[in-house]
Amino acid sequence: MNQEFTVAKFGGTSVADHAAMMRCADIIASDSQVRIVVVSASAGVTNHLVALCQTGLSTEERQAHIDGVIAIQLNIIECLSLDADLAHGFDSTLNDFKHAAQHPAQTNAHRDELLSFGERLSSYLFTQVLRDKGVASSRFDVRSVLKTDGQFGKAQPDITQTKTRAQAELVPLLSEQVVVTQGFIGSDEYGDTTTLGRGGSDYSAALLAEACGARNIHIWTDVVGIYSTDPRLCNKAKPIAHLTFDEAAEMATFGAKVLHPATILPAARSGIGVFVGSSQDPQGGGTWIEKVPSSELIAGVRAVTQRKNQLLLTLKSPEMLLASGFLARVFTILSEYKISVDLVTTSEISVAVTLDNAPNASRPELDQEALERLGEFCHVSVETNLALVALIGSEIQLRQSELNLMRVLSDFDIRLICHGASKHNLCFLVEQSQSDTVVQAIHQQLLEQGR
Ligand code: ASP
Ligand code: MG
Repeated sequence: MNQEFTVAKFGGTSVADHAAMMRCADIIASDSQVRIVVVSASAGVTNHLVALCQTGLSTEERQAHIDGVIAIQLNIIECLSLDADLAHGFDSTLNDFKHAAQHPAQTNAHRDELLSFGERLSSYLFTQVLRDKGVASSRFDVRSVLKTDGQFGKAQPDITQTKTRAQAELVPLLSEQVVVTQGFIGSDEYGDTTTLGRGGSDYSAALLAEACGARNIHIWTDVVGIYSTDPRLCNKAKPIAHLTFDEAAEMATFGAKVLHPATILPAARSGIGVFVGSSQDPQGGGTWIEKVPSSELIAGVRAVTQRKNQLLLTLKSPEMLLASGFLARVFTILSEYKISVDLVTTSEISVAVTLDNAPNASRPELDQEALERLGEFCHVSVETNLALVALIGSEIQLRQSELNLMRVLSDFDIRLICHGASKHNLCFLVEQSQSDTVVQAIHQQLLEQGR
């Protein structure tokens, strides 16, 4: 296709029920540039699927989660009459789900197979809703093009293969119809289903946009863009009309829940503009994330975010004088276990790193075996119940306004502070029970004073 086109992604709340799906279909019907539609699982479904992956569920508990998934589908399907092609695929997928969910998943591959059903089901239903709006559309199984490695639960995309396959199998379909496909899932070299991590549908949309050569990505969610902080926490939080790729990437990484952190990578790499808006209020504005010339950069703090459920891992070398090579050993093991760390601070003989410890993660970040390996050559301590608070912007320096921050912070216990590696953030760690108050105080001090 040589026409410029858009990949539109609709999150779980946007496809939660039939009425929500209809609003999304209106958005697509009114924008002829949208040629690829990426859908999440309907809200609540992936949480049931994650629960089904746990070991030790009673038969009743297992059945309750299976029924939960089915109820969400039935609630939508009773408003639809599925065309034969979709009905056939939907019924067999639902049967496969019932079968797969009966017994605890024995391997990581089985877990990802089970986790994939949410998006596989919602994409059938959404295609019908779109057809009912008069939009010629077909459902496409993304697993045939979105190729990944075999890290189940957190698979990494194979960009080259994804592009080759998407150009051969997906792009030719776009001139005839809108293609509806799944976020979050892909497949490894053996064709086994993989998942990209919780919230991964945004990332899927960006990967497909890059692979297919789209001009824009529209992420439709339940808020009108990205705010200066979580509006549920501060009623003076303001939507931000424009963000740079760097600012948006930092915000997503450090807790703005609106976007999956990896989404910005393909977009920035390929210069694809990203719009974030609300499917409940499509005229309500939103945030554009784009390349911004340095002359137009807005310097200073533009947002404050937080990420709860952080774990602080402190590693101390017992040998005071043999510190050289210590960091290398620590990070070799972290990388062997594919543990992704966010903040790092060091002293002569110790290093502290933060990692995610999210209760709903499809895979825990810290592996017991990795802890044991680290314990072989250093003293390891683990602290939990922490939250990471991040100030985000461009050209952040400790000038007067940011120094005011120190006064705000003096009311709280700060466990760790990080600044300097990038001018896009200043981060610190606080007790989780205090983090909401810290964010409110910072927002008030730095972002509500006419800046
Ligand atoms: N359904 C997946 C999740 O809830 C992926 C997504 O919605 O982006 O995490
Ligand atoms: Mg999401």
